[in-house]
Amino acid sequence: MYVLGLEGTAHTIGASVVTGEGEVLSNISETYKEKEGIHPREAANHHSSKVVKIIKKSILDAGIGKKDIDVIAFSQGPGLGPCLRTTATAARSLSLSLDLPLVGVNHCIAHLEIGRLRTKAENPILLYVSGGNTQVIAFSKGRYRVFGETLDIGLGNMLDKFGREKGMKFPAGPLIEKKAKQGEKLIDLPYSVKGMDVEFSGIMTAALNKDDALEDLCHSIQETTFAMLIEVTERALAHVRKDEVLLGGGVVQNKRLQSMIRTMTKERDAEWYVPEPEFCVDNAAMIAWTGYLMHDAGISISVEESNIKQNFRTDEVEVTWR
Ligand code: AMP
Ligand code: MG
Repeated sequence: MYVLGLEGTAHTIGASVVTGEGEVLSNISETYKEKEGIHPREAANHHSSKVVKIIKKSILDAGIGKKDIDVIAFSQGPGLGPCLRTTATAARSLSLSLDLPLVGVNHCIAHLEIGRLRTKAENPILLYVSGGNTQVIAFSKGRYRVFGETLDIGLGNMLDKFGREKGMKFPAGPLIEKKAKQGEKLIDLPYSVKGMDVEFSGIMTAALNKDDALEDLCHSIQETTFAMLIEVTERALAHVRKDEVLLGGGVVQNKRLQSMIRTMTKERDAEWYVPEPEFCVDNAAMIAWTGYLMHDAGISISVEESNIKQNFRTDEVEVTWR
């Protein structure tokens, strides 16, 4: 069984072929590089100019022919409207021309499922921290439920915006991590945890209004925002009585965040897992694999009902494959 998956919710357009045994045969992507913040229509133009080439390469790299494909999966949401529409259109054309079942995948759930495939995590809490999203997700009573999330922007976007104001290139996250290593002073920034939710805009504004050294600002932004994430993740672990933390999203490649997770899980006698970088960031293998799981459980949609869902909620999906 071969599933071709397409990812295209935000910056990244990707195509991947996976097998029903969980082998990733190809995982191709290209990322739209923003200059002044992501412009949804420009990102979508980028995706439509690359998508055919990427699909062809993913099939070629997988060492199969297009006739071998059994299922088409695509990222149905959440994400930016123009990007989602471009990706969905490509998926629908493939499904119609090859006469194959179509599966619409929730992008956040896909981050969790690829993490379960690539690591030994079985029933983890997912701390998903990317450009556009920040959520703490766990499986409970037949659904993936959001236990906490950002009330404004994703942490990655906040780091990228702060970096842009400071003249850093996109993506700023890795550059901020580097600068932070040279920072020592912990500058007082608002610590914004509200119940199980977090907020980042105020922290960015406060940091931009300080004239401390950039290294100290980067260090303080990381310490403050990461401590907030650890707090809600730890509380979610206790609440749902789980003992595994899985990391997902581009920001979790940050070594300081990983070391704070290591400390917290050690103190709780829990384990933590992070997939390889190519499976942390937005990637099509996670869509193909989740598409496989869903199709195997009897889930598919007709082209007529394959509308994109910009605000696709994680807990909207009935998880019948677990
Ligand atoms: P994603 O949206 O999941 O594809 O991830 C992209 C986001 O991850 C961007 O906002 C990056 O700035 C951020 N990012 C990547 N590497 C790091 C890092 N080492 N530290 C912090 N943020 C990072
Ligand atoms: Mg993502």
